[in-house]
Amino acid sequence: MLDEERLTREESMIRRVAWVGGVAVTLVTAALLLPLLASATSGWQYPVYSALGGIPLAYGLFSSLVLFKMQVVLLHRHQAQLLMRVSELKEVASRDEMTGLHNRRHFYEVSEEELTRAQQRRDTLAILLMDLDGLKGINDEFGHGVGDIVITNLAAIISKHIRTTDVAARLGGDEFGVVMPGTDKRGAFALARRLWEEMERKPMYEDDETELMVTVSIGVAGYPWGGDSLDEMLHWADADMYANKMSRRLPEEPESPQELDDAGALIDDYALGN
Ligand code: GH3
Ligand code: MG
Repeated sequence: MLDEERLTREESMIRRVAWVGGVAVTLVTAALLLPLLASATSGWQYPVYSALGGIPLAYGLFSSLVLFKMQVVLLHRHQAQLLMRVSELKEVASRDEMTGLHNRRHFYEVSEEELTRAQQRRDTLAILLMDLDGLKGINDEFGHGVGDIVITNLAAIISKHIRTTDVAARLGGDEFGVVMPGTDKRGAFALARRLWEEMERKPMYEDDETELMVTVSIGVAGYPWGGDSLDEMLHWADADMYANKMSRRLPEEPESPQELDDAGALIDDYALGN
């Protein structure tokens, strides 16, 4: 809106300058020519002075041309600004506000595009799905704000470890996805490993009293080794992630016989994480 106002203002200013110039040229020409015509004595002076009367007309034509050119320049500038604004809005609309990663819609669009490209070029493509472990418990125990920090920190770790050609997104809640063009199964697992290693090293939240180590479950799938359509790939990645999450909940090896009851069953609940 502001750009449109500026464009209109600039246009009317140019038109005003042209008008004022036109009036000034006409007045000056008339002021000079009329006395000359009145005092003309010889025959050649009449046609010459009358022809000079065409100066305002020439000015009018010239200024119309300049005006037109300037309007075209202004319109081009306006168009460029609009295009820039559209791309800025597109960028904002494709982002998740809290983490700054891309959002679910963008993730699906890019995944579809990259899968088509991989199929056409017979290239590889990997997709990682991840879900934080036990975020509900973190929210309950430490508050939603801490949960938000954990989500944001995971997003930062993902951003740090992906390549510039990869696209990372927050798919919703505590779920994330990464599309990795030109990446095979090994590459996908390598990223998963890097994320796990960093999360093992670094607390995902810390203050004076709390140091929170959090884990994330990861599933991978890809083309051509994990499905031929995006739905299929996401299905397999999700199943893989679920299996990974379940494996984290498996009972750990009992350290002493006292941890088993009479029937040999585990007394402790399934441990979350690890
Ligand atoms: P699991 O180990 O099975 O993944 O369980 P979970 O506790 O992580 O819970 P789940 O993944 O099933 O659901 C995600 C939970 O994360 C639900 C909701 O309580 C919480 N959550 C979703 N979005 C946000 C958010 O933006 N901020 C915070 N702090 N919590 C969120
Ligand atoms: Mg979770």
